[in-house]
Amino acid sequence: MANNPLNILIIGAHPDDPDYSAGGTAALYAQRGHRVKMVSLTNGDAGHHEQGGAPLAWRRRIEAANAGKALGVEYITLDIHDGALLPSLENRNLVIAIIREFQPDLITIHRPNDYHPDHRYASQLVQDASYMVTVPNVVSHVPHLRTMPVIVHTWDHFQKPYPFQADVVVAIDAVVEAKVDALHCHTSQMYEWLPYNGRYLEQVPANLAERRAWLRQRQDARLRRVADLYRAKLGELYGTARGDQVQYAEAFEACEYGSPLTSENVQTLFPFFTK
Ligand SMILES: [Zn+2]
Repeated sequence: MANNPLNILIIGAHPDDPDYSAGGTAALYAQRGHRVKMVSLTNGDAGHHEQGGAPLAWRRRIEAANAGKALGVEYITLDIHDGALLPSLENRNLVIAIIREFQPDLITIHRPNDYHPDHRYASQLVQDASYMVTVPNVVSHVPHLRTMPVIVHTWDHFQKPYPFQADVVVAIDAVVEAKVDALHCHTSQMYEWLPYNGRYLEQVPANLAERRAWLRQRQDARLRRVADLYRAKLGELYGTARGDQVQYAEAFEACEYGSPLTSENVQTLFPFFTK
């Protein structure tokens, strides 16, 4: 166990976003005895071409829970309808309560500009909650926080209004198989809906072991891309020799509305950088 365990809250819009964006980093925290909670704000009940509603929501909740087990973390799915997440006061207060109850040192969330409205509003909700978690007269049934957590956005490739700025890049080579194992649990997404939506359903192997290998291959390029894009930052954090050898990475951008991410607290919040 870590001497001072951190509380890490990984929030996403859909059941698969938390592990897709930060599953490797989550596994690294879990291995070191830190406490990680993944939360999907929606229940995922719209993300399929043949199923929907409550049966799909339950299927995705179970898939997410299993993905959490693969990473050694807790993974919960709330019950807001998929494709219908709004930055409402009701949802903001829900997010405030979740943050206060878990008392995170660090929160990860999508960036506010993204192709999916649920991702955009999930990001908006966390930003809207960030200061309010410290205000006692808001959501007063859950004790307020005295310090705002540090908040970081998870990597995406969108360029407008500005490209992703990598403030922290975490090497996940040691846990890349655990990340793929987690994604492999999302059968309804990785092998059904996303391939249908992306029109490559015919490429998905029928056999379970072949599917896992196929998914591993698909993730390979993406995770290598993040390491290659931010090679200089990896060198800065891990030292050039180690940074140059990193194959797979996850990247994070500081959000201005949380507590500041500094060159001092980055070492405590991301206890992975041995040179
Ligand atoms: Zn999503």
